[in-house]
Amino acid sequence: MDGFSLTYEGFDPGAEGLREALTSTGNGYLCTRGAAEWEDADGVHYPGTYVHGGYNRETTILGGLPVLNEDLVNLPNWLVLELRLEGEDAIRLADVELLDYRHELDIQYATVVRHLRFRDNGGRQTALLSRRFVSMADAHHAGIEWTIVPENWSGRVEVVAAIDGRVRNGGVARYQQLEGRHLNPVSPRTFGPEVIALKAETRQSNLYISEASRTRVFRDGRPLPVERTLYQMEDYIQQVLAFDVRQGAATRVEKMVAFYTSRDPAVSDTLVKAATSAARHTDFAASLERHTAAWDELWRVGDVRVSGDERVQLLLRLHIAHILQVCSRHTADLDAGLPARGLNGEAYRGHVFWDEIHAFPFFNVRLPEVTRGLLMYRYRRIGEARAAARQAGLRGAMFPWQSGSDGTEETQRRHLNPLSGRWEADLSRNQRHVNAAIFYNIWHYYQTTADQTFLSDYGAEMMLEIARFWASIAHFNPERERYEIHGVMGPDEFHDKYPEAEQGGLRNNAYTNVMVAWLCDIAGQLLSLLPASRAEALRGRLAIGDDELTMWQDMSRRMFVPFHDDGIISQFEGYEDLDELDWDAYRAKYGNIQRLDRILRAEGNDPNRYKVTKQADTVMLFFLFPREELGEIVQRLGYDYRDDTAMRNVAYYDQRTSHGSTLSFVAHAGVLAALDPDSSWDRFLVALQSDVDDIQGGTTKEGIHLGVMCGTLDLVQRGYAGSRVREGVLYFDPRLPSRLGDLSFSMQFRETPVHVTLTGDRLTLAIHPEAVSRPIRVAVRGDIRELCPGDRAVFELSPDPAASGPAAHD
Ligand code: BGC
Repeated sequence: MDGFSLTYEGFDPGAEGLREALTSTGNGYLCTRGAAEWEDADGVHYPGTYVHGGYNRETTILGGLPVLNEDLVNLPNWLVLELRLEGEDAIRLADVELLDYRHELDIQYATVVRHLRFRDNGGRQTALLSRRFVSMADAHHAGIEWTIVPENWSGRVEVVAAIDGRVRNGGVARYQQLEGRHLNPVSPRTFGPEVIALKAETRQSNLYISEASRTRVFRDGRPLPVERTLYQMEDYIQQVLAFDVRQGAATRVEKMVAFYTSRDPAVSDTLVKAATSAARHTDFAASLERHTAAWDELWRVGDVRVSGDERVQLLLRLHIAHILQVCSRHTADLDAGLPARGLNGEAYRGHVFWDEIHAFPFFNVRLPEVTRGLLMYRYRRIGEARAAARQAGLRGAMFPWQSGSDGTEETQRRHLNPLSGRWEADLSRNQRHVNAAIFYNIWHYYQTTADQTFLSDYGAEMMLEIARFWASIAHFNPERERYEIHGVMGPDEFHDKYPEAEQGGLRNNAYTNVMVAWLCDIAGQLLSLLPASRAEALRGRLAIGDDELTMWQDMSRRMFVPFHDDGIISQFEGYEDLDELDWDAYRAKYGNIQRLDRILRAEGNDPNRYKVTKQADTVMLFFLFPREELGEIVQRLGYDYRDDTAMRNVAYYDQRTSHGSTLSFVAHAGVLAALDPDSSWDRFLVALQSDVDDIQGGTTKEGIHLGVMCGTLDLVQRGYAGSRVREGVLYFDPRLPSRLGDLSFSMQFRETPVHVTLTGDRLTLAIHPEAVSRPIRVAVRGDIRELCPGDRAVFELSPDPAASGPAAHD
């Protein structure tokens, strides 16, 4: 690895799946795994192409029972380019002697490159350089360029350029028993001598997908005449281009691709659109130039520079590149949610969870239009969320734990434990806390952008309906004189019910209850933030009565929060009665015990019996709220909040958390940033390396962990630079870990670009003198200043934060 490159030397079949996921190329509209163009899905290679919203439902009969799943569909493979030398079979990596092999992701320009030199069975030595990208400039375009150099021979070659619709979803081993066919063929077609095109349709959701490609050959900068032969079937089309190559001379093949679906605007027939678009494509070099210019602009907005550790710098940039390949400005314009595993694989079926809460801090201050677009995904599904609440006998809007095409609950009811091979009940849909996350996300988007239109037109309605949902699922316990919530789960998926209980869910998950207390307070004031006429109209339309507003205020003061052991917030009521696990024994026996749930269940045991936590649950509270804000919420509830509350709780849960979701390292690192910087840094490094090193042993090849990638950047800006927004002020409370060195990045706060530079003892904020810039209020520790466009403010940081004012964060 160096500067801007993720490089793999030598071909390793066992690692190819991981490499494909990590070298995926995308543009926020479509994303394709970094598979070699000439390989099919075969257990080693897995070409996969996905678009936002490209879902399809299929039913599988499992053990006599119908199981319905909605999947993000693997779309026709546009990559296919195969090389045949002098009439032989097409080259496959397994069949040749590799003399050199390098597989690389150019992180700066999201380009996947393979350099190969090989000797085939006939003793021919050939060099092949492949470069490809999915255009950040033109959302519907992609391009592949091959450069072929025969090293010790001259002769005739054939290049097969195809679009293959015979694909299925087969990228995740534990889904193999489930139906993987999602596409029906529609038609192949040619458009003139150079363009081939293929149209397919998803089997249930009737989404049309059309892909077209134009392949040309060049030598010495000039087009080379080639002989073209066509072959087509209903779900496959190929053109074979035959031409002579000369020893030592480079011949270039360009396959320029266009991609449309029936979800795209401004399209009549997707097949015609794709074909005309492919025909109009500029050549590879011109297209690549526009693509790199688009990335240059994105880096100006998105880059985060750190000194001191090159690998940290590289991995942060790798994360930025992957995030933007899944969600870019192109995404803002789509009906797209944030897929937890990116568009890089099929794990979690492309579903949208609560991971947005880790992702939006990155977008809010860089590309807020992306957050807005992703929040609109939720708004468009509020009807389903209302119906789900009603069906459960509740009010308001209950957004699903797993969301896909239309916002109905997509969480499966049974899942396969790969350790035991058994299908087990999946109760995770009880994670209603996703509704608190959506509320939190809207509020923080609004705080950062002051996007009043969004709040008025969409955000407030979702927030009010979510508050209403929580008020209806809560009940008042007269004995405690407090509101309680039963039958839900927190983020920790190891606890989905009480041991021996028939029903799923727990009583009074502290994370949920505190979030509800917080959001009820905001919901009570929300109408006053809207223009009067809008507030009145919304109140009338949603029929929000005074009693409801009063109840929200009451809930913000009287939610129940369980405690035990003098100041430890109990993850849920009854947590303290669970058994302690012998962690050392399990570590000794199994090594990696991140997925203790699977281990315990495979042993016939039940994680619900133990004080074992998959991921930050209670700890999330300390992660999401700055110290004084959490203190205010908890004290308003009438509970004690001491100086050591955060430290004691984090220490307690740290010992009992397996971090079976890598999101957990982000949350713990965030909380520890102010409490124990060294330990924070260690966890930050784990999160930073979790995908590139595949620390969960095989999950990354099924898709990147987008929330964690965003979370590492959130840690830098919120955890270490200590940035946060409250009441219209952008605060900083820096606590750079000693191993981080200097830090600089750009933010956008209320439409004003701010460049942040942080060195050991100084924070500099430079307000860009842009036309759109407006005066903003910033604060470093206690020092609040108003800065105007063109201003540059330097804040000296005293080594001891306490010495320069109250610490803003915990
Ligand atoms: C985690 C969830 C997360 C989901 C998708 C699960 O393993 O427990 O918190 O939302 O993965 O990333």
